[in-house]
Amino acid sequence: MSRGVSSWIIATGQAWKLYGAVAGFTASLGLLTAACFSLASSGRFFMALAACGLFLGCATFVWFAAVLRCPSCRAKLVWTMASSRPHSSWIIDLAALDRCPACNRELDRISRPQP
Ligand SMILES: [Zn+2]
Repeated sequence: MSRGVSSWIIATGQAWKLYGAVAGFTASLGLLTAACFSLASSGRFFMALAACGLFLGCATFVWFAAVLRCPSCRAKLVWTMASSRPHSSWIIDLAALDRCPACNRELDRISRPQP
């Protein structure tokens, strides 16, 4: 296997979305960690921090699912994969895709999204 795991995502210029999702999930995790720490000290901000963390996590996933699309048919690939594969492996299958599950075109052949 010489291909990178997320090759088609990078080849179609969508790598920044992946980094954006990672940043969003990291921030969400940070808020939840802060919520746990606040519970240990006073607990006053626990609900606010936990709610923000959970909201940010959900919002990041929804955004990521909405923006990561097939460059030719605009299918929402995160939705497609998350709903059709087992929960443990869909993200690996998503990154390793070489063809779009909706239109069956080769994903990394297309260098730029169609307008
Ligand atoms: Zn497609």
